[in-house]
Amino acid sequence: MKWATLLLALAALGLAQAPKTAQEVDAVFPEARTLYVDLHQNPELSSHETQTAAKLANHLRSLGYDVTEHVGGTGIVAILKNGRGPTIMLRTELDALPVEEKTALPYASKVHAKDDAGRDVPVMHACGHDLHMAALFGTAAVMAHSRDTWHGTLMLIGQPAEESISGAKKMIEDGLLTRFPKPDVGVALHVANDFPAGMVAVTPGYSHASADSLRITIYGKGGHGATPQNTIDPVVIAARTVLALQTIVSREVKPGEAAVVTVGYIQAGTKDNIIPDQAELGLTVRTYKPEVRKQILAAIARITRAEADAAGVQREPSIEQYEATDAVYNDPALARRLRSTLETTLGKENVATAKPMMVSEDYSFFIEQGIPSFYFSLGGADPAKYAEAKIAGTKLPTDHSPLFAPDVDPALHTAITAEVAVLRNLLSSQ
Ligand SMILES: [Zn+2]
Ligand SMILES: [Zn+2]
Repeated sequence: MKWATLLLALAALGLAQAPKTAQEVDAVFPEARTLYVDLHQNPELSSHETQTAAKLANHLRSLGYDVTEHVGGTGIVAILKNGRGPTIMLRTELDALPVEEKTALPYASKVHAKDDAGRDVPVMHACGHDLHMAALFGTAAVMAHSRDTWHGTLMLIGQPAEESISGAKKMIEDGLLTRFPKPDVGVALHVANDFPAGMVAVTPGYSHASADSLRITIYGKGGHGATPQNTIDPVVIAARTVLALQTIVSREVKPGEAAVVTVGYIQAGTKDNIIPDQAELGLTVRTYKPEVRKQILAAIARITRAEADAAGVQREPSIEQYEATDAVYNDPALARRLRSTLETTLGKENVATAKPMMVSEDYSFFIEQGIPSFYFSLGGADPAKYAEAKIAGTKLPTDHSPLFAPDVDPALHTAITAEVAVLRNLLSSQ
């Protein structure tokens, strides 16, 4: 009898839980949505997110968070201590992209700015970081208004320069994990049109690939286009190198291992009748496993040198690795636990399993620092358009597209609901 009563009480509690969260989210939603529109209309490029950071910092301060600005450039850290317990980090990015918005939305961005090379470029939140910030603010508000539902330390961070894969590293170098409590667990989410709004998706294990950006310079010997016998043509070497590099994944990497080698640009020469003295290749390399990454980088160096050697160059090619980030790895036990929390909160049918992606994320720098993490996906597609596209076999505009336009109301509502559920779960144990 006692057990039955307890079970009934627990069931009632469970039933009461869901509508309570919905009401809490509804209460903060209008302000979060207003912030979203403001951020969307005022995007800023990577490492230049000054107004964005200030806005978010002020919003979090008004909720009672202890906010520190200028962490690793324009980064912000907002702490809310609520008794003993673990420290849980929730991260949003701050930056937008040099993309011209073509969504025709009433609040579409018309912003232009100077990029780091001094060029005038259009700017758009084409990666949905505005949605992530608005969600983080909404979540911050719910958590601040319900301190009786959790205990521990909530650490919210606004990270600059995700798109240039540099902001996370800069925040860490500026003392993110020494000036502030070191998080026991980190959480982040990303919106995409892969799922309809209202849904989230979880990927246990690797979720994003490692990325390495390489610049290869092949040194030949320039001269007249009509006298190739007096030159060493770097254009021909570059062409052979590009093709040979494509044998790495197809011939050297074990079938089934995920890997990409892309030569994104070739630059050489100025005129048809001049053989230039050098050629430059730009590469991106994506993998999940560190050993595959090592194998590919070594093969690129070997093939590049050997092709140049075969042409008889007098100077070895230079290979510079100018950007690099590890793969994002979702702790499997954590993913299992939080998936079940999300299923309880959003309904089992609204939690999907997503395949690992070959795109990259500098969130991996936090994982590299020993912070077990849960990085999940948020559905952004208008459910009706998503269904139409599925039937037609077409794809909705992806992140980074000038047409990327998440279905804000359900996506933002779901993001806040999901983040609150995940944080409460993590801040109720230990
Ligand atoms: Zn992006
Ligand atoms: Zn992004």
